[in-house]
Amino acid sequence: MQILFETPLSGETYVAAQGWRMASLPSCPLHPQGGCSFSRHGTYPRVTPAGTRIPRWYCPEGHRTFSLLPDFLASRLPGTLAALERVVLYVELAGSVEAAADTLRPDDVSLPSAVRWVRRRIHLVRDVLAGVLQTAPAVFRDCQPSITSFGERLHGPGVLAALRTTFAVYLPSLPAPLGFAPRGADFRRTQHNSGADPPTFRH
Ligand SMILES: [Zn+2]
Repeated sequence: MQILFETPLSGETYVAAQGWRMASLPSCPLHPQGGCSFSRHGTYPRVTPAGTRIPRWYCPEGHRTFSLLPDFLASRLPGTLAALERVVLYVELAGSVEAAADTLRPDDVSLPSAVRWVRRRIHLVRDVLAGVLQTAPAVFRDCQPSITSFGERLHGPGVLAALRTTFAVYLPSLPAPLGFAPRGADFRRTQHNSGADPPTFRH
């Protein structure tokens, strides 16, 4: 199970400061009253940003592992939310997946695989933004599921990071790479059962 780890660090500073050491999970999410053998369970690496480690806890009685995902990282996808957003925004502004893929691809990556790489990110982000539109239709009235459209409503870049924070309570039911919902989860059903107030934005 993934849990949000709110940290002022990001990317390289998280690696340099070994930010995973600052994470804490005071009680077992399954047994908040205690009584289980919940404890720290080491860390595991993420490939990008290089050197990133994710802290982990384990409840033996519940047979469940809990990962604290730093808020700047995409979930179930390598890299940061900011890097993901840059790719999608590039395509929206360039108006062409092929042009973006050709510009963004490393030298040793072929154009077809770069196109697939970019296209996958566009689909993932579009699904995320569609999920947010369902969660908060009033906040994002008349918005399209695009970074450009959300950026206009939120008055600036860092759309995915802003949504991560504001929609923290919905992350278990929002799709990756913003939220932590397992692939194929019924987003609308879990959303209705969450009982949380709809989020509001401060500008
Ligand atoms: Zn437990």
